[in-house]
Amino acid sequence: MEKGLIVSVSGPSGTGKGTVLAKVREIFPECGQSVSVTTRSPREGEAEGVAYFFRTKEQFMEMLSSGEIIEYDSYVDNLYGTPAGPLVEMSEKGTDVLLDLTIAGSLALKERFEQTVTIFLLPPSFETLEKRLRERGTESDDIIAKRLSEARNEVLKAKQFDYVVVNDDLDEAVRKVVSIMEAEKCRYARNNGIEGRI
Ligand code: 5GP
Repeated sequence: MEKGLIVSVSGPSGTGKGTVLAKVREIFPECGQSVSVTTRSPREGEAEGVAYFFRTKEQFMEMLSSGEIIEYDSYVDNLYGTPAGPLVEMSEKGTDVLLDLTIAGSLALKERFEQTVTIFLLPPSFETLEKRLRERGTESDDIIAKRLSEARNEVLKAKQFDYVVVNDDLDEAVRKVVSIMEAEKCRYARNNGIEGRI
């Protein structure tokens, strides 16, 4: 059986990754989701085990040293990591998995699993990014400033990704991510045994 794709999307905070990925999931409801572990405190309305498992730094470091976390990164004073078991299991079973990771996270998965496809989501401009972060209203001015400064460094790393999508228009960005996934599934190398059907 072919392994499922590991589609990892990165991009500066406020680019709209969450919104784009939620729409892509509506189109591919069979897509698997990886629930990350984080040392960040839950935001209002964030329940344990939905988007994240919330852990202390000590608990996080324990999971890391026991190999339970397959990649991790530090982002604006917190740690974020992908649990190994569920991701490997889903992909081995042929289930495609869609992830929203930092740049280092996407690149680490690409190194580790040949079935990884990396997509960099770009904001149309820095002004849009700042406006989106402020409108979201979930972070303080200090954190927004840190996220914006991080965003400038991040955009320089887009060239290490397989694909780049500008999130200017939501539907258009969703269509592009879906097209990338469809095309990747059609790669000859991912269709073992096709000769038998010809
Ligand atoms: P937030 O605090 O806004 O939920 O997430 C901050 C950043 O952490 C986002 O850019 C998100 O992509 C990234 N992130 C979430 N989970 C993981 C993870 O498991 N590994 C890595 N490397 N990044 C993650």
